[in-house]
This record gives sequence, structure tokens and C-alpha cells, in this order.
Amino acid sequence: MDAVPMTLAERLSAIDRSIADAARDAGRDPSEITRIVVTKFHPASLVRELHALGVREVGENRQQELSAKSAELADLTDLHWHFIGQAQTNKAGAVRRAARVVHSVDRKKLADSLDRAAFDDSILDVLIQVNLTDDPGRGGIVSAELETFAEYILDLPTLALKGIMAVAPLDEEPARAFSRLRGYAERLQGLAPEASWISAGMTGDFAEAINAGATHLRIGSAITGPRPAQG
Ligand SMILES: *Cc1c(COP(=O)(O)O)cnc(C)c1O
Repeated sequence: MDAVPMTLAERLSAIDRSIADAARDAGRDPSEITRIVVTKFHPASLVRELHALGVREVGENRQQELSAKSAELADLTDLHWHFIGQAQTNKAGAVRRAARVVHSVDRKKLADSLDRAAFDDSILDVLIQVNLTDDPGRGGIVSAELETFAEYILDLPTLALKGIMAVAPLDEEPARAFSRLRGYAERLQGLAPEASWISAGMTGDFAEAINAGATHLRIGSAITGPRPAQG
């Protein structure tokens, strides 16, 4: 991109053009890629502006912020909230009430809590987060656990396993990390063909993610502008 465009609408359309270009470069159809706008630390008013620009998929990484903003914007009934952060099991109910998709399921206790928090007949879409780093402190399962964890989630009646999610490590070429992720996605689909989503790609690496097969991009600052200081 050249100079940072001035308005939210301009930034949004510039990113969408870049997504479409990256998709075509990768021989993919841009329409098979979902762009989620990550709105963390920004006020609900910004989410409302995004909605007016046609955005329907938004992402948050903290439960309290997800709950507060989704309550404030409850009138926007066609807005879908994606939870992309670390969830505490005792907050699973609050996450489930606000989010349509949880990208960051990485342990049995959390999967159980989300399942038990079902409040009506609805099914919650979930993704397995995989850790692409060597640091066990980062979110995500280690890849060796993928099949057993997937089987576990598939047995939970109120969750629908849709695919896999990851964040690229800071100290590795994103393309390399995402090619591992693609391998994990293929393993998962061998077990659960319907679990075909790959949630990967942020402001700095979405072109590499698209090239590696990402179906869901989580893009924040390139669209929203810099995040306000954490409160
Ligand atoms: C904040 C965040 C993003 C978006 O990051 P940007 O670099 O602002 O695009 C994506 N995924 C997760 C898990 C995040 O926490």
C-alpha cells in the first residue's frame, strides 16, 4: 500500500482490493475469503461505522469487551461477532452468548465449558487454535494433539467444528509458518471434511495467509487505524 488512506471507508476498500489481488495472485476466488475486522480497543461507535459501510463480521479478543460492545450494538442484528482471544472457562457462557464463532478453542476444559453454556438449541461454531511457535505459553494446542482434540470436540453436541486458527510467530517468515498450518488443516479435514475453515492472516501477513489457503482473515489496524492505548 502507498500512503495510509484517510478515512475508514478508504482504508476498508484499500484492504479489500489488496485481499482480492492476493487471492488472484494465489489463483483463488476472492469470494471464498471472509474478512473479519478486528475492532479490539476501539469504541462501539467505530463498529457501528463499519456496519454502515457494509461490514458484518467483526472480531474481539477480550470477553468483557466483546460482551459490552455486542450489548451496546444489539440493534445491529445482522452483525456477527467472532471471539479470537484467550477465554477463561468461567467466562465461556458470556462468550457464547455474544459470539457466533469462537476461533480460539485450545483445551478440553474450554470446549466443555462452551458446550455446557448452550442456552437454547443453537449450535456454536468453533475453530481449534494451533500454536505455531515453540513457546507453550502462547495460545493453541501443539500439533500432535490435533486429531485427539478434534475427535473430542466432534463429540460435543452443541459445538460445530468448522476448522483451524493460528497466529504467525513473530520470529519466523509467515509463509513458512502458514505452510505448516495448511498441513494441519489438511489433517483436520481428513478427519472432519466439513471443518474446512482456516483462520489466519492479520494486517502484516494476510497475503501470505491467503497464499497458504486462509479462508478467514482477521484484520485490525490496517482498517481501524492504530489501536487506542489499552484501558
Ligand atoms: C489483534 C488481533 C488480530 C488483528 O491484528 P492486526 O495486526 O491489527 O491486524 C488478529 N488476530 C488476533 C488473534 C488478534 O488478537
